[in-house]
Amino acid sequence: MDIRTCSIVLMPAVFYIIGYMKRFIRTLMILLFFSLPCMAAELGVLPEAPEGGQAVYVRIDKPGMFKYTVYFNGAEYTPYETADKSLEIILPLEIEEQDTKLLSVKGRLWGVSLKKFDEYITVLPRDIEVYKLKTGDVKMRDRQPSVQEQRDAVVNAFNTLTSERLWEGGFIMPVMAKISSPFALKRESKTYSYFHKGVDLATKKGTPVKAANSGRVILRGDRFNVYGNCLVIDHGQGVVTCYMHLDEALKEEGSPVQKGDEIGKLGSTGWSSGPHLHFGVYIHGSAVDPVWWINFSGHLFSEKPAEDINP
Ligand SMILES: [Zn+2]
Repeated sequence: MDIRTCSIVLMPAVFYIIGYMKRFIRTLMILLFFSLPCMAAELGVLPEAPEGGQAVYVRIDKPGMFKYTVYFNGAEYTPYETADKSLEIILPLEIEEQDTKLLSVKGRLWGVSLKKFDEYITVLPRDIEVYKLKTGDVKMRDRQPSVQEQRDAVVNAFNTLTSERLWEGGFIMPVMAKISSPFALKRESKTYSYFHKGVDLATKKGTPVKAANSGRVILRGDRFNVYGNCLVIDHGQGVVTCYMHLDEALKEEGSPVQKGDEIGKLGSTGWSSGPHLHFGVYIHGSAVDPVWWINFSGHLFSEKPAEDINP
């Protein structure tokens, strides 16, 4: 083949390669242009050393155009955008959770993984108190066996995940009363044991029960065997609260509620040995300590105090 024939055959290939490289470089430049500002993203995690039965709050500031995914404890979460264009997500820790866990956050742009944060979270073991069930407690349960359908309805409600945030500011106690049974108390009999997955607030029958925050009623249980008259409220983004053993539920399924609205009257229905409210907080389906959550959510979500305008 002479030089002339050779160049006729090779030239298109050379042009093709040059064109391909141009496109490649252009794509690279565009990717770099959009990704540079996103490289300034910052990761914030609270609390520093959580306990089992609490939760981890993850915030990504300046996420830019990146799509973030959070990996924790074998699960994958997509964080939610906040009003100030940051991203955040709340991850639950089971009651008996402990040890160091890896929190991995990956940022992708057009499917290309360009940013990664790895953070180790030390989960402290929770002190677990044990309560030996008395014969009377066991008899109460035997008289009212758990009904699978009702249990499924309640568990499904706890696992509700809606993307819109309905809560405003910190959560509040639904009733001001003494705690007669704390969160994570281990109740044991000879044949079974279970964790108390909420707090019992004991006071007079008929006391108004308030919504711990704004949301929507996703379950109203009437005369359920275990839970009695009960309500479950979805606050959005994986946060759900429940109100059990009510004398009367005042809201219908599907009703929107505002923080502090009266939603029911305290009672002693279902598995209950006296008037009290069982108040539970669930995050992505796992029970967390309601007293801790009220303090923590108050710290995280309360409106910032007005700026001091005095000179
Ligand atoms: Zn309880």
